Amino acid sequence: MNKKHLTLILALPAMLLLQNCIKEKENVIPEIPKVTEHWGYERPESWGGVSGGCAGIYQSPIDINTAATIKADLPGLKFSYSSFPISIIDNGHTIQVNTNSYSTANTVSYKDKKYQLKQFHFHAMSEHTINGEHAPMEVHLVHAADDGAILVVGLMIKEGTSNGLINKVWNNLPAVKEKEELKNENIDMDEVLPAGRGYYSYTGSLTTPPCAMGLQWMVMREPLYLSSAQISTFRAMYDHNYRPVQPLNRRMVYEKR
Ligand SMILES: [Zn+2]
Repeated sequence: MNKKHLTLILALPAMLLLQNCIKEKENVIPEIPKVTEHWGYERPESWGGVSGGCAGIYQSPIDINTAATIKADLPGLKFSYSSFPISIIDNGHTIQVNTNSYSTANTVSYKDKKYQLKQFHFHAMSEHTINGEHAPMEVHLVHAADDGAILVVGLMIKEGTSNGLINKVWNNLPAVKEKEELKNENIDMDEVLPAGRGYYSYTGSLTTPPCAMGLQWMVMREPLYLSSAQISTFRAMYDHNYRPVQPLNRRMVYEKR
């Protein structure tokens, strides 16, 4: 055996291992360990016992006091979304749609950094409050950058006209829990974005265990409107999957109008 062959044989296991790692990483948000322990919305104050992160200082959601936001000339959010097939799961805490391999074709850019849309999911009531008031629901569009940084776009959901994208999602609800189903229907997230791109921004955490911190939160100033029937459809499945608002602890909330 010559030296070249030997090098190749020695390098092969390492190459295979690397390939597997890449494959495994594709669908998960980097840097965030999965929580296997059971948790629920009955006792969110006990989440610190499930994951130490939930007892952290800079947590989400928060109340947004619009009289106290810092109104500044902030950079815009540049959305670049395109159509992808619904891949949906009822994970026992919410209904979630994953982008999987379509994440690279669905991005948002903020401060010269590009984040890929990984998934979106729903809460009832809203998790954030604005001037102490909940909206009936909230949707979270979870994006991650290549370096693991996470940016979540939150949309308060209010009652109004029905939304076409949500109709498609509700028509493709999974038959069973905890099993992702790929459906034969495409959606385009442009359909849920409000016309105005103003936002409230602050640094916070995931709102479910492990409550990882250092997330960039962008709560859009304009809500997403759903019909009362669309809101009822979700609330018949999940009526109380929101974490209470957390102390601000001297954090600044910025506002772009
Ligand atoms: Zn959420």
